[in-house]
Amino acid sequence: MSEQDVGTPALKRLFFALWPEVALQEALHRIAATMLGPVDGRCTPSPNIHLTLAFLGPVSEEARGCYETAASGVRAEPLTLTLDAFGCFRRSGILWVGAGHAPASLLALVRGLSEALRNCGYEPDQRPFRAHLTLARRLRRCPRFPELLPVDWPVRDFVLVESHTGPRGAEYEILRRWPLA
Ligand code: ATP
Ligand code: MG
Repeated sequence: MSEQDVGTPALKRLFFALWPEVALQEALHRIAATMLGPVDGRCTPSPNIHLTLAFLGPVSEEARGCYETAASGVRAEPLTLTLDAFGCFRRSGILWVGAGHAPASLLALVRGLSEALRNCGYEPDQRPFRAHLTLARRLRRCPRFPELLPVDWPVRDFVLVESHTGPRGAEYEILRRWPLA
């Protein structure tokens, strides 16, 4: 992203994601809060907990139209994501919860979406996809993981989200939903 992009109000910072129901967000938030000490790291605010499928970055209105049309052409089945693992990205100081083995249906969704978005200029992440939801940031050390019975997350749609960066950190706005049918 160039500095010019940052200052151009016509560009929106967008990404595609899976968005848990409020009850699941709150349950994950509570688990994260018990894992962190009072000073070590910052929990993701409950309404912000999500799984990123494809990060677009700053997008013009025109490009947004292209991305939405592309997303509308993606065919993917409803799926259940079993959250059965905690982990840390140690270099970036992130605590996450995710699926040890992402189901083929999720990988197919990510692949199908990424391929469709390419026509609009999207460049997929070079790194392999990791199915994770960030629970905390700025950790100085990785906490001990509690026993967590696997949590089944039924996923019925995917969403396009705008990221607003304010003084209190990121706030996310769901712009549109596509059902998994
Ligand atoms: P902040 O950047 O203010 O700390 P954030 O990272 O949650 O907050 P964004 O930077 O707008 O907010 O990112 C939105 C989502 O996209 C997050 O899930 C983030 O992890 C993911 N993301 C951000 N940048 C990239 C990138 N370059 N590649 C892949 N995913 C990204
Ligand atoms: Mg970020």
